[in-house]
Amino acid sequence: MTAAVRTRFAPSPTGFLHIGGLRTALFCWLYARRHGGRFILRIEDTDLERSTDEAIQQILDGLEWAGLAHDEGPFYQTRRFGRYREVIEAMLQEGSAYRCYCTKEELDQLRAAQLARGEKPRYDGRWRERTDSRPGVQPVIRFKNPLDGEVVVEDVVHGRVVFQNRELDDLIIARSDGSPTYNFCVVVDDMDMDITHVIRGDDHLNNTPRQQNMLEALGRRPPVYAHLPMILGADGAKLSKRHGAVSVLQYRDEGYLPEALLNYLVRLGWSHGDQEIFSLDEMRRAFDIADVNKSAAAFNADKLSWLNQQHMMRAPLARMIWPLRWQLERAGVEVEDEVRLEQIVLALRERVKNLKDMAAQALFFFRAPLAYDEKAQRKHVTPDVLALWGALAGELAALQPWTAPALHELLNGLAAANGLALGKLVQPIRLAVCGAVVSPPIDATLALLGREETLSRLARAKAAWSP
Ligand code: GLU
Repeated sequence: MTAAVRTRFAPSPTGFLHIGGLRTALFCWLYARRHGGRFILRIEDTDLERSTDEAIQQILDGLEWAGLAHDEGPFYQTRRFGRYREVIEAMLQEGSAYRCYCTKEELDQLRAAQLARGEKPRYDGRWRERTDSRPGVQPVIRFKNPLDGEVVVEDVVHGRVVFQNRELDDLIIARSDGSPTYNFCVVVDDMDMDITHVIRGDDHLNNTPRQQNMLEALGRRPPVYAHLPMILGADGAKLSKRHGAVSVLQYRDEGYLPEALLNYLVRLGWSHGDQEIFSLDEMRRAFDIADVNKSAAAFNADKLSWLNQQHMMRAPLARMIWPLRWQLERAGVEVEDEVRLEQIVLALRERVKNLKDMAAQALFFFRAPLAYDEKAQRKHVTPDVLALWGALAGELAALQPWTAPALHELLNGLAAANGLALGKLVQPIRLAVCGAVVSPPIDATLALLGREETLSRLARAKAAWSP
């Protein structure tokens, strides 16, 4: 019987959760979900100087927003120091680790001598077999790496990657103050958490032979490794702040749907035939890390934007409500009425690229304009049309029912009866209700705005425009 799949996402909370991290989390999550396994969240916060509570919160918020719920955790490495000490003690006892009392000066000399001989600087193992100590010196603890032979990493993405043990020196697993080091904590955690599949960025591939050796020394079979290609900016450099938005929460703020961002990320380095658009369910059913390819993928903001539109068009209306409401709230408008929000989504979703723009374009439904676009006013507000304002208001007041088709008919009829092109009538109405001449079709706009509000805005505009 094969063990149930257990994957983990193990971010270091030293900066915001970026989209490369989210893609790693997504692949771990998808793989666990696909195989009925467990997805574990582990916060690698041992770097006390660089880890912050704010970064931890961002990770939790980002994953929650994206809908990548973990089944276990979050586990914090800083709460596991007792356990790391226990494993170090056991390794010292059984001889897979040893105390090294070298001073900094000694190590500097060693390094200088190796460089002078044209060798790669590395610790030479001089305390490997010693059992004495140096009074007054706090030792570091080193892992006794095998001296020769190969470490073969069977990576699902990169294939077979072979490292030579003689290239790996004896890694420090605890510093002289007793604190455990990064690669060691990862190993103990992966062991204790029974991780079966380590899926992470390929910037960690070089850590893998050491981790694999330590796991073996601890009597564990290494997990399956899958190292994902980096995400690059359009210029071919590793994606960074320079390339614009890379923080996951910034995409939320900019009005992206999480499923669109995940769809975008899943396609970076993975494909399934020529399908571009995936719902979360489809991803879950189709995803396999064996299909991830190993070349780095370039980030393409236009494609993400396109996918966001595709997902906005396909989303059930009810699903669009909370992100739109959230965007409106950020713009200072609280909306309770869900039916109204759904109607706004329907009126606007073909016209905008994201929910932030949708909220911006929906604001006028909730706030009467404070001013009117002056250029549009000069162009569209003519005496002819102002002369019709009274008749327009009268017909609108009497219109039954107040619906888009009825409004459409009314406006067409009024324009025709007065020999006006429809646009000549519609643009000033639009200006009166929105303050500008961009809005969804005027019939849908007025239908949504409601009779009372329409009439009051028309009256207010007339007063403002009358000489
Ligand atoms: N903490 C590491 C990082 O944020 C990940 C380590 C791992 O996945 O093994 O890059």
